[in-house]
Amino acid sequence: PTEFSHPVAVAIAVAGKGLALPRSSGIGDGFFDSDGQITKRPIRALALSALAPRAGELLWDIGGGSGSVGIEWCLTHPACQAISIEPRADRAARIRTNADRLGADRLQVIDGAAPGALDGLPLPQAVFIGGGLSDALLTDLSARLPAGTRLVAHAVTLESEALLTEWSARIGGDLMRIALSRITPLGRKRGWTAAYPVTQWRVVL
Ligand code: SAH
Repeated sequence: PTEFSHPVAVAIAVAGKGLALPRSSGIGDGFFDSDGQITKRPIRALALSALAPRAGELLWDIGGGSGSVGIEWCLTHPACQAISIEPRADRAARIRTNADRLGADRLQVIDGAAPGALDGLPLPQAVFIGGGLSDALLTDLSARLPAGTRLVAHAVTLESEALLTEWSARIGGDLMRIALSRITPLGRKRGWTAAYPVTQWRVVL
């Protein structure tokens, strides 16, 4: 990934080495430095698809982690912007580094916890919740965000899934369960190992 430090470098890579940043959402996890807390490529592609970025829009990426979702949002169009909110200082610093290396300088990092850290931010057209999901956060967002804002939340634990189940029954939207498996060794043969299922909620407020 260090070859892809700047859009100019990407262009050179295309012409020269045959290596380049893919144009589709869901780029390889290896493009992002992370400590393991990263929305993996196939799940990230589904997150971006649900978020449906359009030219000039702003995303709040709550629970930034490595920044992968906010960075990919920025990469979909040169006028797209993102704000990643991440309370762990080491991760906030990593988001900045990843964004700069991939040319997503239109991403701003807020080193703080939602919902408190959202005060004073410019209002977004879309919000992704990849961490920090709570009833208090959803209550705050539904009061703070204008009607028409797109909200996408991912849940892995039963507790956070229960929250999404309850909120979707109350205010609508789509729930989708993403259950992916990968091939791993099984003795001398191979078998499917299931990843934790992810529940995705998408709602237009
Ligand atoms: N989507 C990220 C991974 C998210 S992991 C990526 O692709 O890299 C969840 C993150 O949420 C963690 O980094 C955690 O520190 C953060 N988090 C936890 N509580 C939070 C809160 N209240 N506000 C914002 N972020 C929070």
